[in-house]
Amino acid sequence: MTIALSIANLTAAVGGREILKGIHLDLPFGEVHALMGPNGSGKSTLCHVLSGRHGYEVVGSASLAGAPLFGLDVDERARLGLMQGFQYPVEIPGVKLGEFVAEAAAEAGMGEDEIERRVAEAAEKFDMTRFLERGVNEDLSGGEKKRSEIFQMAVLGPKVALLDEIDSGLDIDAVREVAEAVEVMRSPEVGVLMITHYSRILRYVIPDRVHVMVDGRLVDSGGPELAEELEAGGYEAVRARLGLVPGGENGQAKGPETKMTDLFTDLPFET
Ligand code: ADP
Ligand code: MG
Repeated sequence: MTIALSIANLTAAVGGREILKGIHLDLPFGEVHALMGPNGSGKSTLCHVLSGRHGYEVVGSASLAGAPLFGLDVDERARLGLMQGFQYPVEIPGVKLGEFVAEAAAEAGMGEDEIERRVAEAAEKFDMTRFLERGVNEDLSGGEKKRSEIFQMAVLGPKVALLDEIDSGLDIDAVREVAEAVEVMRSPEVGVLMITHYSRILRYVIPDRVHVMVDGRLVDSGGPELAEELEAGGYEAVRARLGLVPGGENGQAKGPETKMTDLFTDLPFET
């Protein structure tokens, strides 16, 4: 089993405040892992730290197909094969999607013919043909933006795909569409880390593993049944089983200022 993404003992802080508190995670090629957790648990921070966004004090290690990531710039990590699908994809008016993705593919060393073929195939597969001549994400619906992220991944062929809340803000039909696109991405050449707050997308994408992040730590990992437990009982059920109290160090309560209500009512399933 070759590891696409390996994270060991990763901590990350901003301005002295620790957000990630010792993350270990192995994502093999060919697998889709779901990373779930309440709002504010550190999921996006993990993505940003892996992608190379500045401003974090990072300790620990992360490697992509065996190559260390930390110390490399964002573009160097991308060249190695790391790609992040954003929670909020930005609109880039005036830059056509087709040209944008072709340029990125050329930067990645693909020849013209291959680029043309891959863009056409992926556009067909993800129903993006009519968007190729339009500005990147310009006036696209939420679901179309997320599909566009996956389309770009299909052209560029990352080794590791980080999908940050690929399902957030979408209606149920769009969630199903995006989920199908994630299933299409599944291949022995890529490891997919699908970050989600809600378990509803996991009705359509069956992950190989589910990891639960609470307060900057992975408190539980398991098979798809873990997502079912979350859908049925929320993060509260997982906390109760693990004996965690929300809000504090190692899940231990900190004090009266801790916002308990937010975490207790934070059900991962949205009707
Ligand atoms: P999630 O994606 O799980 O909702 P985030 O990774 O966005 O969580 O945030 C985790 C915690 O870290 C939150 O409490 C957030 O306010 C804090 N945080 C994230 N980025 C910064 C930053 N740049 N500066 C200060 N605090 C931050
Ligand atoms: Mg987030």
